[in-house]
Amino acid sequence: MKRYDAIKQIVESLNNELVVCNLGTPSRELYDIDDREENFYMLGSMGLVSSIAFGLAISKPNKRVVCIDGDGSLLMNLGSLSTIANNSPNNLTLIVIDNSSYGSTGDQKTYTSGKTKLEVIAKGAGFESITIIDKEKDIIQGLKNLGTGCHFVLIRTQPGNAHVSNILLHPEEIKTRFCKAMLNFRHMKKKI
Ligand SMILES: [Mg+2]
Repeated sequence: MKRYDAIKQIVESLNNELVVCNLGTPSRELYDIDDREENFYMLGSMGLVSSIAFGLAISKPNKRVVCIDGDGSLLMNLGSLSTIANNSPNNLTLIVIDNSSYGSTGDQKTYTSGKTKLEVIAKGAGFESITIIDKEKDIIQGLKNLGTGCHFVLIRTQPGNAHVSNILLHPEEIKTRFCKAMLNFRHMKKKI
């Protein structure tokens, strides 16, 4: 399984969650699979997707927030794990797609290809719910089983990027429609 396959399964598991996606190829792949107004595609700030998702989760406690992060990105911002785990919003799922590489810059290896285990770091940071998924067929059920809570999910994949187009939305449009989706309180609350 590659990242694209994992994102496809993640999308299948979604209802109307707000999704904050790591910058670069992951966001382009998500856009290619299923563009929706509840998706926030990061176009900058590498490493900060989990922090943005955490801020969103604590400011919008009535909404479920799904963060799609990557190993290279999370390694840049490990402190975010402690912040999330200690505040533990019960509406946040942090998914890390670990392909042991910096996919968007040419598949250079990250340290998860060596000794570093992000799930162990997450546990040490204080996450109580940790799920590891290795098989594509286990992703949908694995995510649906989580329910409310503050979850850390590691999905292990092979390196490699899908050949997808750029995101054909102006950055302001991404922000504006995402904010609109966030404010659509009645609609979202009803479906939670
Ligand atoms: Mg990676």
